[in-house]
Amino acid sequence: MRPISYSRASDVTGAIATVTADPTSDFLAGGTTEIDLLRQNVLQPRRLVDINDLPLTQIEDRPDGGVYIGAVARMSDVAEAPGVRERFPMLAEALVLGASAQLRHMATMGGNMMQRVRCGYFRDAVSPCNKRDPGSGCSAIDGFNRGHAVLGAGDSCIATHPSDVAVALMALEARIHTEGASGRRVYAIDDFFLLPGDTPHLEHPLEHGELIVGIEVPYTPVAGNALYLKVRDRESYEFALASVAVGVTISDGVIRDARLALGGVATKPWRARRAEEILRGATADRETFVRAAREELAAARTTPLNEFKVELAQRTMVRALETLTSPERPS
Ligand SMILES: Cc1cc2nc3c(=O)[nH]c(=O)nc-3n(C[C@H](O)[C@H](O)[C@H](O)COP(=O)(O)OP(=O)(O)OC[C@H]3O[C@@H](n4cnc5c(N)ncnc54)[C@H](O)[C@@H]3O)c2cc1C
Ligand code: SF4
Repeated sequence: MRPISYSRASDVTGAIATVTADPTSDFLAGGTTEIDLLRQNVLQPRRLVDINDLPLTQIEDRPDGGVYIGAVARMSDVAEAPGVRERFPMLAEALVLGASAQLRHMATMGGNMMQRVRCGYFRDAVSPCNKRDPGSGCSAIDGFNRGHAVLGAGDSCIATHPSDVAVALMALEARIHTEGASGRRVYAIDDFFLLPGDTPHLEHPLEHGELIVGIEVPYTPVAGNALYLKVRDRESYEFALASVAVGVTISDGVIRDARLALGGVATKPWRARRAEEILRGATADRETFVRAAREELAAARTTPLNEFKVELAQRTMVRALETLTSPERPS
């Protein structure tokens, strides 16, 4: 048995100082990732610093139309917040389609950004896995990899990023606010999630002890005409095989602006920049959508088990765009 010390932080400075001072310590929020991995012996912290009492549960509407979400706000509270539902529907939809109701009541927004991959080899605590044990190899590349990534994958790791809400936040160009021993920082969300490259054990640019304090979602006109579409093996309580967060503005049948991100197919929440380039200024029709989807997936790297994801992702993109631009869709 491994002893673990537990403390409940009452202020942000104290929480950061305690974790920073002890390399074997972790923050504990809702515990829905941390406790699972601790039980499976994948994580072995000797100290847990509970951050649930920190004053970081706010969901604040900003005067410019944006919203600021505290890191300890629960996924279920954010999904139900009127400002989020009205101005950022794709965010509310991505939250409701994630995990289960019970989990969403426990899980926090900061914890969601930091959740770990669902690769079975990472989670079994014994198979070679570069992410868990750097340099040991990747069991998934020649193993069971049906759910693994086709975009952003390297030779060291092909695990899919599992979050739904991070995909919506990627499309919305959210900013992650942190505090740590080096002071306050703000990360553009695209910089917050790292590609595996040669260092798959590094998933974020955070220092040990750096605490996510909040997530800022800026106002953008595309956010109001947006949706999140998730395709999975079963209709609830399941991670995405492919998902799309998309928002567009259209006038006279032409797409003026588009924001698109993909989940379930990449090693990080994937901003579909090539597709956006094709969509902007083009006629909002199926031909444009098919071309945008095809070109975004052109760089896909597949295995025999996961190659179906290329077509699935393309179809999911086209369906999301057709749904969003349908004249029958209520405005
Ligand atoms: C069965 C199951 C199904 C799920 N399905 C989905 C799904 O469909 N879609 C989806 O998006 N997610 C899904 N999840 C993942 C779930 O959303 C995450 O487990 C949850 O969001 C993590 O939040 P938490 O507060 O419980 O984090 P914790 O488990 O407490 O922490 C997770 C990690 O983040 C660190 N951490 C926590 N808060 C902070 C902070 N503020 N700053 C810095 N580090 C921090 C912790 O040290 C830990 O390493 C599922 C989880 C389970 C168990
Ligand atoms: S895909 Fe990544 S997480 Fe899975 S075994 Fe390979 S290195 Fe580990």
